[in-house]
Amino acid sequence: MFDRRAFVGGSAALALSGCVTVPRGTGCSPLPPVLVDEARVIRTVAGLRPYRASGFVVRAEPLGDKRLIHKYGHGGAGITLSWGSSRLAVDLGLQGHSGPVAVIGSGVMGLTTARLVQEAGFPVSIYTAALPPDTTSAVAGGQISPFGHYRESEVTPAWMAQFQAAMAYSWQRFQTLVGERYGIRWQRTYEETRDTVYPNDWMNPYYPNGKLLGPNEHPFPVERMVAFDTMYVETPRFMAQLMSEVLGAGGTIRMRRFGNLAEVATLSEQLIFNCTGIGAKALVGDEVLTPVRGQLAVLRPQHEVRYAFSGDAGYMFPRGDGILLGGTFERGEWDATPQPDDIARILRSHRRLFAGLRCAA
Ligand SMILES: Cc1cc2nc3c(=O)[nH]c(=O)nc-3n(C[C@H](O)[C@H](O)[C@H](O)COP(=O)(O)OP(=O)(O)OC[C@H]3O[C@@H](n4cnc5c(N)ncnc54)[C@H](O)[C@@H]3O)c2cc1C
Repeated sequence: MFDRRAFVGGSAALALSGCVTVPRGTGCSPLPPVLVDEARVIRTVAGLRPYRASGFVVRAEPLGDKRLIHKYGHGGAGITLSWGSSRLAVDLGLQGHSGPVAVIGSGVMGLTTARLVQEAGFPVSIYTAALPPDTTSAVAGGQISPFGHYRESEVTPAWMAQFQAAMAYSWQRFQTLVGERYGIRWQRTYEETRDTVYPNDWMNPYYPNGKLLGPNEHPFPVERMVAFDTMYVETPRFMAQLMSEVLGAGGTIRMRRFGNLAEVATLSEQLIFNCTGIGAKALVGDEVLTPVRGQLAVLRPQHEVRYAFSGDAGYMFPRGDGILLGGTFERGEWDATPQPDDIARILRSHRRLFAGLRCAA
């Protein structure tokens, strides 16, 4: 549901609201439907979004004679905000620093941090409990749109300024990476909305070519929608490319899980970035951090599908490696395995959605 600020709650994909049947007209070209069928499912996945109602953390703390920069808690917007919040963290951490740097975590936050540290001319070592594809980041849908990462009533103006700065840098940086190498492309996106006027605020530049569409102005069996353009990241490919760039620039990656900050303090590097996602809850005892599980059914690729959808039925992001169907936002769920009943519900709601696709006026 198009909502720029509030977290969309609920425990699973919502059922599709009433279908509108509009007869197919002539002389119009409907969008190619996604072929939703269990036989087309090539994998199912689940991941834990690291959600903080009071927003993601970028802050410095002394750790003995070392400096620790925390950067975690990006909820459902970590791919979107990756470059930008890494920029903020690296600018904070590198002030007055000399010598090698450690990064904990090899999700999107760890890898973009490591690249920015290298770009600034510092040697970097990543220490991580797991590598892609076994990270939340490698599971993510990869829409560049900040969604589900804070609660409006819990954030401060200073945090909003941090969010805006992160968004601005990310938006610029991702545009420079569009193409096959990083698996990033622009795509038209249709989102169901209850808004009756198109919102006008600081986020407008991040929804280029945005329009509010009435019931007869789009092909989906729902009432009102917004359409806009944005970028989509084929996350497994993006993560693999970042890893090879870190290594190619002389970085090292070591497998290591830290049980507490005392263990982190034994590292030889004087500057350490904590990019552990949901792992930060145990590592630093962050009470506010909570998992929000997301599950996806991935269908065989359909290269003719070049639009994305999200709404009550869930969401559909077409990527080169498959058609992603998702839509669960399950707070407090720690089990990162796909649940057959939820996957079946995701498939059902999308089958109904695409069966109802029609010609737009
Ligand atoms: C289904 C789903 C869809 C999503 N879709 C989108 C989307 O479309 N757009 C978007 O912007 N975001 C999306 N997200 C959100 C996004 O995936 C996350 O915000 C992001 O991946 C968080 O990145 P991270 O690097 O902080 O965490 P992670 O990717 O989880 O990486 C954390 C790293 O830290 C390591 N680690 C953890 N604890 C320790 C420890 N104690 N010691 C050593 N290493 C440790 C882990 O092994 C891992 O390498 C989605 C998430 C899900 C689940």
